[in-house]
Amino acid sequence: CGIVGYIGYREAYPVIIKGLKRLEYRGYDSAGLVLSEDGIFNLSKTKGKVSDLEAKAEKELSLKGTMGMGHTRWATHGVPNDVNSHPHFSNSGELVIIHNGIIENYEPLKKELINRGYVFHSDTDTEVLVNLIEEVQKKDNLKLGKAVQVALNQVIGAYAIAVMDTKSPNEIVVARLGSPLAIGIGEGEYFIASDASPFIEYTTNAIYLEDEEMAIVRLNKPMKVRKIKDNALVNPNIQQLQM
Ligand code: GLU
Repeated sequence: CGIVGYIGYREAYPVIIKGLKRLEYRGYDSAGLVLSEDGIFNLSKTKGKVSDLEAKAEKELSLKGTMGMGHTRWATHGVPNDVNSHPHFSNSGELVIIHNGIIENYEPLKKELINRGYVFHSDTDTEVLVNLIEEVQKKDNLKLGKAVQVALNQVIGAYAIAVMDTKSPNEIVVARLGSPLAIGIGEGEYFIASDASPFIEYTTNAIYLEDEEMAIVRLNKPMKVRKIKDNALVNPNIQQLQM
């Protein structure tokens, strides 16, 4: 189970695939990725190895885009198969998420979303979370970061997540509770990963999110880190990684 993300000026695909390979040691049963090309999210995912994902993605995607994210899954809810692999889209197709961890109260949340007309394609707890974020966002017309925050305050469980929104195409929102998440800070680019190994060749400046923190990572903007519970701004501790 691992997470990799990129936003910047490079092609995201090689950064993501190489990064997923560096995270293989963490163990997984499926892999997937999404690339943002001109505001459209192109997704490829499969049960199996990162090398299987690579073969599939190279067949079905243009592989273009300077923003994207990848995931290796260790199934907790729903068997390992292509559909249950991450990333997962929301019902509108506007939001896409990757998630390591467990949403423990996914059942009541799922019931409520089904009552509101949501349809589920996978058996994962993660697809519940991305639709909860969508519901929260639509209800009060919230920006992505705020919607993620409100949704996470309704969730019990553990997570490292990264979320993208077609409506804000230069932004990735990440959050953690219980599962690790590091952010690499380059010049005009950011990296997201479960540990620093996917990005240490590009930058040695990194922050490690603490539990119950979220970050809004925007292209060519300073990163904002906040407490999920009370929205308090956190002054992130930028570390110098040793090569
Ligand atoms: N609970 C999620 C799932 O089963 C995420 C598992 C993981 O940590 O990779 O899809």
